[in-house]
Amino acid sequence: MTTKAKQERLDKYQRRAQEILETLNIQTQIIGQMKVTKNQVWGKCHRVAPGLYDIQINELLLVKDKGHEAMTTVLHEMLHTVKGCFNHGPKWKELADLVNKNYHYNIKRTTSCDEKGIKEDDFRKVRYILECQGCGYKIKRTKKSKIIKNPEHYLCGKCRGKLKRIK
Ligand SMILES: [Zn+2]
Ligand SMILES: [Zn+2]
Repeated sequence: MTTKAKQERLDKYQRRAQEILETLNIQTQIIGQMKVTKNQVWGKCHRVAPGLYDIQINELLLVKDKGHEAMTTVLHEMLHTVKGCFNHGPKWKELADLVNKNYHYNIKRTTSCDEKGIKEDDFRKVRYILECQGCGYKIKRTKKSKIIKNPEHYLCGKCRGKLKRIK
């Protein structure tokens, strides 16, 4: 799926989310841009200037069968643009609960990969994995850090076992 198609889908979700918030009398401030991102977040709301926000939504949510999850994240981020809701404080929580109750979403402060139905490795772009030879614990990294280059210089943080590179 092309980035353009993902962006079009996101625009559609934004319009639908806006309708939902208006129906519930929730006043968002100005959203300058809502864009597709590859960053390792589901969504991000950035304050550009007082009352003006940019939002990013992870491209993994903009595939065909993830509509409900995408809408949940879009609504989550749009709620951050309401006055007094930039953090996950009581007002943000109250509005999130209001949307959840009326539209059967499950907007929360944080959501795991499991709950989104997305493989953690896809989300985090895991390129390197070390496995503890003692307890089997896996250390996953995106970048080739010191521990990936020289695993023999380190021990497992849980059991002090030896680490072996398996990816
Ligand atoms: Zn948030
Ligand atoms: Zn271990």
